[in-house]
Amino acid sequence: MPTVSLSFLNRGKVKQVCRVCHAIAELKTERLCADCARIKAQILVRFAEAARGTIAIPAEQQCHRTGCSCAACDGRTVDPHQLYLFDLARAERREIHFHPRCHELWIEAVTGLVARPDRGIDIGQG
Ligand SMILES: [Zn+2]
Ligand SMILES: [Zn+2]
Ligand SMILES: [Zn+2]
Repeated sequence: MPTVSLSFLNRGKVKQVCRVCHAIAELKTERLCADCARIKAQILVRFAEAARGTIAIPAEQQCHRTGCSCAACDGRTVDPHQLYLFDLARAERREIHFHPRCHELWIEAVTGLVARPDRGIDIGQG
């Protein structure tokens, strides 16, 4: 894991590297770019039960199909990606596909952990 040094940047509205997709952007919450922040929020809404821990998360699998619909951002997949097969009690079996980027956000959403908590960068008081 490379460490990016941002010490040369001045204060104020600077562009930084999103810690999930590594795009250079003005970061929103949790050092995520606007895209990632939106996707994570979407995951928390769509999979609220998983995020709360009320349903079990099945083992992660690899999907090698292309053109799957990502459950987080609704985009189409082009590369091998992660797949979960939910066996919901009464409902039918449900396949959930994630882009690798969206999968990182999914993990954060369901574990409640941030891969690299990096606080105190833009508190913005003063
Ligand atoms: Zn991002
Ligand atoms: Zn797939
Ligand atoms: Zn996606």
